[in-house]
Amino acid sequence: MRDYEAGFRLKEALVNLVFPRRCPVCDAVVPLGEGLICRQCVSKPQYITEPRCRRCGKQLREGEQEFCADCLRRRHVFDYGYALYDYQSMKKSIYRFKYGRRCEYAAFYAQDLYRRLSHELRLMEADAIIPVPIHRSRYRRRGYNQAELVAAELSRLTGIPMYERLVTRSRKTAPQKELTIQERQNNLKKAFNISTNVVKLNKTILIDDIYTTGSTLDAVALELKRHGVGAVYFIALCIGEGM
Ligand SMILES: [Zn+2]
Ligand SMILES: [Zn+2]
Repeated sequence: MRDYEAGFRLKEALVNLVFPRRCPVCDAVVPLGEGLICRQCVSKPQYITEPRCRRCGKQLREGEQEFCADCLRRRHVFDYGYALYDYQSMKKSIYRFKYGRRCEYAAFYAQDLYRRLSHELRLMEADAIIPVPIHRSRYRRRGYNQAELVAAELSRLTGIPMYERLVTRSRKTAPQKELTIQERQNNLKKAFNISTNVVKLNKTILIDDIYTTGSTLDAVALELKRHGVGAVYFIALCIGEGM
């Protein structure tokens, strides 16, 4: 074991004494040494598998071709991306992660992403991992950006540097949930800013928690491409059917 890893394990063990790690599915305390998810829950997350939409990564039914109905109707700015979980199977988990201070789930999600999408990640040949930002007032209230926690872990696992300050959310947007697609797009106009124009990035991966219509990812991708980024991919934790 490398020193770095040993140190990391030790730190993890100490942190675990004070803040016991909780299972990302059932939220019970996971005994030290059992890993990041409890034994009873290992088979509970439902993963998106092939065939999936070549653009947004949504689960397709057998026989469906290449793109989902949404992506056939609407062009996206991002190039393509993947989601790991079916939303229904992990929505409570994501909710606690986002609003319930369960920051430790990020390690599990990232490890799971890295394991299940390692081939896809390699093919992207990205030179940057960029978390989708939240507005700073939201950041202050929540104390963290859930996408950034996952991005940081994934960056550590893949060795691809994270640029967490490159994109900022300049406008506070209304919750997307209650809006139509058209309203979502208007809602997001000029919501994102690139903080510097000196970075020469070619291929980037955006990290988000939930893929709904892709409007948020498109808005960030648009800004990045306007600043010269060649390709914008994404990885989302979960995606649903007909979201
Ligand atoms: Zn569990
Ligand atoms: Zn699609």
